[in-house]
Amino acid sequence: MDTDALDDFLAGARRFLDDHATPKQGAGGWGDGDDQLSGYRTVTEQEDADRVRGAQVWKALEFDHGYGWIAGSPELGGRGLPPEFERGYLELRAQYDVPAQGVFVISLGMVAPTFEQFGGDEVRMLVPHLWRGDLIGCQLFSEPTNGSDVAGLITKARADGDEWVIDGQKVWTSVAQHSQWGLLLARTNHDAPKHAGITAFALDMSTPGVEVRPLVMMTGGTEFNEVFLDGVRVPDAHRLGPVDGGWRVAIATLMNERALGAGGSDLFGTFRALERLRMTIEHMGFDRDPRVRDEFARLYTMGETIRYMALAADERRRNGMLPGPAESVFKLANTEVLRAVSSLGTRICGMSSVVDTGAWGTYAWGVLEATMPGLRIAGGTDEIMRNILAERVLGLPKEPG
Ligand SMILES: Cc1cc2nc3c(=O)[nH]c(=O)nc-3n(C[C@H](O)[C@H](O)[C@H](O)COP(=O)(O)OP(=O)(O)OC[C@H]3O[C@@H](n4cnc5c(N)ncnc54)[C@H](O)[C@@H]3O)c2cc1C
Repeated sequence: MDTDALDDFLAGARRFLDDHATPKQGAGGWGDGDDQLSGYRTVTEQEDADRVRGAQVWKALEFDHGYGWIAGSPELGGRGLPPEFERGYLELRAQYDVPAQGVFVISLGMVAPTFEQFGGDEVRMLVPHLWRGDLIGCQLFSEPTNGSDVAGLITKARADGDEWVIDGQKVWTSVAQHSQWGLLLARTNHDAPKHAGITAFALDMSTPGVEVRPLVMMTGGTEFNEVFLDGVRVPDAHRLGPVDGGWRVAIATLMNERALGAGGSDLFGTFRALERLRMTIEHMGFDRDPRVRDEFARLYTMGETIRYMALAADERRRNGMLPGPAESVFKLANTEVLRAVSSLGTRICGMSSVVDTGAWGTYAWGVLEATMPGLRIAGGTDEIMRNILAERVLGLPKEPG
């Protein structure tokens, strides 16, 4: 790697950040800044809209200055730099207060790469707009009767001239209420084996017949939705990959989803929550309690194990290895550790974790606790992750059907 080029790049990035953002103050101690630990927080519709708008304004600014799609394809507007440059930029950006970018996780981690890999010209033209944040994309895979078993989906698409007509229902669709495009799987062949009868599409969410209904979560937030599809017409030019070849598109998307949670990105917020737990223990005066110290030490050690596994995953990626089933360990390990961290934080704060007194940093534990069941389900449940690791990584006998 050309370290001079990386140093020059990071010096430019620092100038950009100094000009447009404020460096974070202090070490982020108790009472400093935003106290939320959960991505699924309780907010009003207006706060939610403002949050998304703020994230989009920042994303466009970054993109226009060359920091929005650092490792992306130059033919589509990316900078074509090695992944180290992107990682370096993100580490640098973490030292500044910038609007939270969570609304783009699915859009950029899953939808944009799939549109780029499998889309025709019209769909590929959308990719830079996704990276600039002008457009947001969502993942329309799960249905009321099929979540873990994605290939069992029943939403159907029937050909009509050079269009497809789509009828069905999707559910648990994160950020659909903010999305202009969706990555949709539908059944196009009812006679073929279930994996061989699916086709993938880029769906314009403003098409007549698409109805998005937000679902209220236990946290009070509305981060995901039901999406109803009634006679929705999609041009064949928006098909992703071959007719009946959607399973390969789905797998590529799901592998990108696994890769999102691997590496050192702290997608789940595990390291952030561990650091907050340390502060909470001190703030609430439990730092001399041997049971609490013991439990925290155990969790900290597990967190550090994840950190070292992430370094190894980064190294594999640097050496050009595509994400595979082994990446499932990150989802499982992060949710296991985060669940235990959340439980200890909530027990230490007691009533103030379930009643919002306005005090900084205590109620946030209750919100995280209410998020945990969803995290253990989203993107593949704990049981499914265990099955993948057992069967496809460790080579153990398959689950009885
Ligand atoms: C917060 C959140 C966000 C989400 N966002 C999206 C999104 O943006 N787009 C999208 O398409 N979907 C999304 N989902 C849906 C998610 O992918 C599914 O909920 C998940 O795959 C599980 O499917 P299911 O809910 O139908 O449960 P089921 O598949 O019906 O599972 C029910 C239970 O049975 C267990 N089970 C199922 N099969 C097996 C098996 N073979 N072996 C052992 N146990 C098994 C499961 O572990 C679970 O405990 C989201 C879900 C959540 C909670």
